[in-house]
Amino acid sequence: MRIEVVEEIKPDLFRIKVPLPNNPLKELNSYVIRSRERNLIIDTGFNRPQCLEVMEEGVFNLGLDLTRTDFFLTHLHADHTGLVVRLASKTSAVYFSRVDAQMFKREEPWKAMIDYAKINGFPEEELLRAISNHPGFKYSPQSIPEFDLVDDGREIEVGRYRLKCLWTPGHTPGHMCLYDEKEKLLFSGDHVLFDITPHIESWSYQVNALHDYLSSLDRIRDLPVAMVLPGHRSFFTDLKGRIDALKKHHYLRAEEVLEVLNGKRKTAYEIASQMTWDIDYERWEDFPIAQKWFATGEAIAHLRFLEEEGKVERNIESGLFWFSRK
Ligand SMILES: [Zn+2]
Repeated sequence: MRIEVVEEIKPDLFRIKVPLPNNPLKELNSYVIRSRERNLIIDTGFNRPQCLEVMEEGVFNLGLDLTRTDFFLTHLHADHTGLVVRLASKTSAVYFSRVDAQMFKREEPWKAMIDYAKINGFPEEELLRAISNHPGFKYSPQSIPEFDLVDDGREIEVGRYRLKCLWTPGHTPGHMCLYDEKEKLLFSGDHVLFDITPHIESWSYQVNALHDYLSSLDRIRDLPVAMVLPGHRSFFTDLKGRIDALKKHHYLRAEEVLEVLNGKRKTAYEIASQMTWDIDYERWEDFPIAQKWFATGEAIAHLRFLEEEGKVERNIESGLFWFSRK
């Protein structure tokens, strides 16, 4: 017998645990709010058969009529958006942050990232493999749906719940949380996770993702919440405590970047290869290509932050960014 995929959290509010095979995140939490008029599904899982099967089973078990079901996507990553085109009906609204929608609609979305990775020292011979292994490349929606574009402060009412969109850039530039003030519920997407640290990366010089992220943590830190419902793993209650731990984590990581630099000049890729990573491989050479990519993106985000703080200097030489301590 299959394990029940649907779990009731509160009246009319459910979680579907969508498996993410071979992915360290393990599962995506898709939340469903059921109401007599319309239903809302928050995040969907990758565009791959293992995810679709579970989502369809969840939709069936909950008796959801998809022509009366809308979707809210917390951010652009494929584990959250991947299945939206398969599940949404012609009459479904697909709520999506205006900022992330712009990135979604870019032509050649990978081109700018590849160029930026190159300039940050990512070896050219590994680049194509890194992109073709990227979940965003493999498991994104097959087409772009028509979005109902959402800005900060928009309210969406579903049955007994009244959800306010909170723009919380950092994990992605357009990331949105949903907050129900009366029920004291926060759907935190990948902005705040409990068991794992949200990935903060940067693939464009224009974006200071870590600075944005830390500000967005402060923005929600003091919200009265009874329960936080994150995009992955367990629910939790101590939002303040978790946010303080995440902030500390990133300040320590920034310190580590400065230590790795230690009077030398290095590229972001080199720095990433010398930082410590919570991963089952001892040597950087053995890291799976996807992990090298994520590690480099994270190192860039911390370097960009340190540069803005006046602690790191960036020079361009022979087509590469070189970082050193100031
Ligand atoms: Zn995610």
